[in-house]
Amino acid sequence: MSYDISIIGAGPGGYVGAIRAAQLGASVALIEKDFLGGTCLNKGCIPTKAMLSSVHSLEVVKHAKGHGINISDYEIDIHAIYDRQKKIVKQMQKGLEQLLKSYVNITVYKGEASIVSASKIAVSGETCLEIDTKNIIIATGSSCASLGNIDTDHTLVINSDDALNLNMVPESIVIIGGGAIGIEWSRIFSALGSDVTIVEMLDRIAPACDEDISKLLLRLFKKDKVKVKTGVGVKYIEKMPDSVKVVLNNDEVMEANKVLLAVGRKPNSLFKGIDTIGIEYNSRYIKVNGYMQTNINNIYAIGDVVGNLPLAHVASHEAILAVEHIMGRDVEPVDYSLVPFVIYGHPELASVGITEEKAKSDNIKYEVNTFHYAANGKAIAESETIGFVKTIIDANTKKIIGVHIAGANASDMIHQGVIAVKQGLAKTDFKEMIFAHPTLSESFYESILQLHVPGKQKSLR
Ligand code: FAD
Repeated sequence: MSYDISIIGAGPGGYVGAIRAAQLGASVALIEKDFLGGTCLNKGCIPTKAMLSSVHSLEVVKHAKGHGINISDYEIDIHAIYDRQKKIVKQMQKGLEQLLKSYVNITVYKGEASIVSASKIAVSGETCLEIDTKNIIIATGSSCASLGNIDTDHTLVINSDDALNLNMVPESIVIIGGGAIGIEWSRIFSALGSDVTIVEMLDRIAPACDEDISKLLLRLFKKDKVKVKTGVGVKYIEKMPDSVKVVLNNDEVMEANKVLLAVGRKPNSLFKGIDTIGIEYNSRYIKVNGYMQTNINNIYAIGDVVGNLPLAHVASHEAILAVEHIMGRDVEPVDYSLVPFVIYGHPELASVGITEEKAKSDNIKYEVNTFHYAANGKAIAESETIGFVKTIIDANTKKIIGVHIAGANASDMIHQGVIAVKQGLAKTDFKEMIFAHPTLSESFYESILQLHVPGKQKSLR
């Protein structure tokens, strides 16, 4: 058994890399110790979006009256909601298995990989074997991080993996961490009836987003009676038979049925054998150059284990880059400033490029244009009037350098921003474009051109 490229881990980094390598004619070994699809398909992107979709259906039912439809009676079948999410994951696992099978030059090994040398990998599973390989791509991803003094017992104190298997709605829950994972689960539990409190150490929730997005989110959480405590950490927790006492650094005490730790991810960078080959680390992450190459020429690392940006689409992009570099193609290092970032729920929150805060701290002269969904015909027709599109424009070049959307379909709309920022489009470029009416995308166009904002047209057209 000898391969051109062996990939350890079949998440959105590993399996996408395997497919690209096969397309370029390489023989590939793809080794996975758990389920094909990695965190994203099995414990992350997909199951949480399936849960959020159920929650969205619930919201549609609750607000049906506003559309002239009276639904007098409905009930939430929580088991069916969890089952649906699991079925979707299974369906996609099967699809991925078939897709990988369709490439004759990919061999999938089910088992745990360990590194024997820079050109040999051992796989231990149902059968143990050794693989000779010209190149290795480490795509081992990440796992739920814990918090120093807090023991995740997976019953009272749970992580995001456990949340997917709860099969119930806790009466009350404290969610530690106000980033994407904490926010998505807050929205799920709160819509399903839990009394939710978010605790965030930093001074605002969604700290990676533009501050206007954090502010809107905070307002919406207040409306939904989700309590948000920012600028404070957890001192300790005390477990009781059926609940948990959470003591904050400011000595405030809360009690809840469950605590969800959503405090980030830790890289799976210390697996068996890796210490024998002298890989260099950047803190706990595997250190790579712009081509995802480690300090050992024929060993690459991509995705969450490198930690440039822990997102599925980044892992996939880095995997393709690494494979193409191995195969001698001309490639450019990743431009991380162009990566879109989305937080799901209702409304969706999505960003690309620089935030207003970053423009300020980098002393960039900028203009900010905001267009509110409340003034968009399609949004009004669909009762989706919460939200805005905010564009940041370089005042000197007039190029669009940041786009931040809070509102329905933001996760899809943001790609217009990706194209605008990547291509260095300026306001004048949009004057020549026609956007269909009525569409939510018109908000993007309007935020740039400000056509229907009183007093603004003259200066901008
Ligand atoms: P992973 O997906 O973690 O895959 C690594 C794989 O390697 C795993 O399957 C693991 O079993 C395997 N492995 C590890 N060690 C070994 C070994 N020694 N031998 C064999 N196999 C091994 N990102 C988004 O872009 N959008 C989202 O909406 C989103 N939502 C998320 C929601 C949650 C709750 C979580 C936890 C994450 C979410 N993410 C999201 C992040 C996303 O899941 C990760 O960024 C992405 O999965 C990273 O891909 P990866 O290939 O680097 O690693």
